[in-house]
Amino acid sequence: MPDLIKVAKFGGTSMANAEAMHRCAEIIAKDPDKKIIVVSATSGTTNLLTQICESQVGVEKDALLNELRSKHSAICDDLKNSNEVRLRVTTLLDELEAYISSRKTITAGDQDEILSFGERLSSTIFTNILQEKVAGAKWVDAREVMITDDTHGSAEPNIDQIAKRAKGKWLPLFKNHCLITQGFIGSTENGVTTTLGRGGSDYSAALYAEAIEADVLEIWTDVSAVYTTDPRIVKDARPITEISFDEAAELSVFGAKVLHPATLKPAIRKRIKVYVGSSMNPELPGTWIVKETKSNPVIRAISLRRKQTLLNVHSLDMLHRSGYLARLFEVLAKYKISVDLVTTSEVSVSLTLDTDIQSAEKNKLTPEVLAELRTFSDVNIDRDLSLIALVGNNLHATAGLSGPVFGALQDINIRLICHGASSHNLCFLVKEDQAEEVVQILHKKFITSKTNETTE
Ligand code: ASP
Ligand code: MG
Repeated sequence: MPDLIKVAKFGGTSMANAEAMHRCAEIIAKDPDKKIIVVSATSGTTNLLTQICESQVGVEKDALLNELRSKHSAICDDLKNSNEVRLRVTTLLDELEAYISSRKTITAGDQDEILSFGERLSSTIFTNILQEKVAGAKWVDAREVMITDDTHGSAEPNIDQIAKRAKGKWLPLFKNHCLITQGFIGSTENGVTTTLGRGGSDYSAALYAEAIEADVLEIWTDVSAVYTTDPRIVKDARPITEISFDEAAELSVFGAKVLHPATLKPAIRKRIKVYVGSSMNPELPGTWIVKETKSNPVIRAISLRRKQTLLNVHSLDMLHRSGYLARLFEVLAKYKISVDLVTTSEVSVSLTLDTDIQSAEKNKLTPEVLAELRTFSDVNIDRDLSLIALVGNNLHATAGLSGPVFGALQDINIRLICHGASSHNLCFLVKEDQAEEVVQILHKKFITSKTNETTE
C-alpha cells in the first residue's frame, strides 16, 4: 500500500486533446500516490451531448453526432497505438447512436445515459494514454461505485454505499493499479445511469476521496489557482496559496467557478486536504484548501455572482404577526425554489434567487408561484443584479469594516446587504452593469493595497 492515497481529478480542458491528455499523464506518472484518477468529458462534449438531447430535428442530431465522432477520432489520430482504443471509441459511439435512435422522446433518465458517454469516451482514451506511462493503469466504471438516488440530472449520492463499494471493489486494486474512472456519472442501486449535475466531476472526486479516506484530493484544472478575485475583472488579482475550507466553500458558493460548490463537503467531513492546480502549468504552486491556514486575513478574496434575482415580498399583515415567514417559505419550498440571501424588515422580506443556473431553475418564478404569493403579499421582482461577496475571516466580529467597504462604494446603489450571519462573508447586491467596477474598487482597497498584511 502507498503511504499516501491521493485522488486526482482532471477537468474537461485537461482532457481537451491528446496533447493535454499527455500532460495529465505526465503529472500522474510522477506521483505513484495518485491512486484514483477521475476525468471529465473532453471540453465541450457534455454541451454537445446536451444539444443532442434537446434537438428535435433528425438531421441536426446527426450533425451533432458527427461532430462528436470527429472530435474523438481526432484525438485517437494523435495517439501512438491507436487501433485498439479507436475500436473502443467507435463501439461506444455506435452504442450511443443506437441508444438515441431507439428513443422517440428523451426522458431525464435517457439524458443521463446519453451524457454519461462523454466521460466514458474521455476515460477510455485517457486510459490508453496513461498505460504508456504507468504500468497497471486500469479503467474502472464509476457506476459500480457512485451509487445515487434516481433524481436524474442532479442525483444525490449515497455516501454509505459509495464507501462500501469503493473499499470493496477499488481499494484492493491499489496495490498493483492506478484506477481511471469517470467524474459526474453514477448509477442507482438498480443500475440506471444518473449524473450529479453539471460540473459534477469535482464532486465525484471528492466523494471517492471520502469513500477511501484519501489523504489528498487534487483538482487539476485550467486555472493555476484560486485567485483573490476573477483575474479577468481585476488584472492584479493574485493566486491564493492557502485558504481554509470555510473560506473556499463560501467562494465556490458565491460564484468563483473554480470548484463545484458541493466539492468541499466530503473533504470537510473527512478533513482531506484539497489542492487546486493547473494541468497546463503543474510547476506553479496552486492553492491548498485546508482546515486551518497559517494566516487569516479579514478579507481574503472577493467573488462575483451574476444573474441574481431579487424577490421583494411586502405585506402589512406582517406587522406584529407570527407565521408570515413560515407561510412565505412554505410556498417557496413547495415549488422547490432555493433561496440564497434573506433580509427582513417588519413588513417586508427580500430574497435572492440564483437565476444563472442552467435548466429549469431560470424560470422558477412562474406565474403560478407569483399568483400564490400574491394571495397574501405584494410582490415585486428585480432582475439583472449581481451578488458581491467579500470572503475572509471573522468578518462578523471585525469592528469598522462596513464603514470602509460601503464608504468606498458611495456612488453605487446597493440593494441588499447580508452581514453578520456568517463569519466568513459579507455580501450585497448591486446592479449587474456596476458589478465589475465594484469588484475593482474593493479589490484595490482591501487586497491590492494590503499585499503585506494579507500574506497567504
Ligand atoms: N462533463 C460534465 C460537465 O461538463 C461534468 C464536469 O465536467 O465536471 O458538466
Ligand atoms: Mg468541467
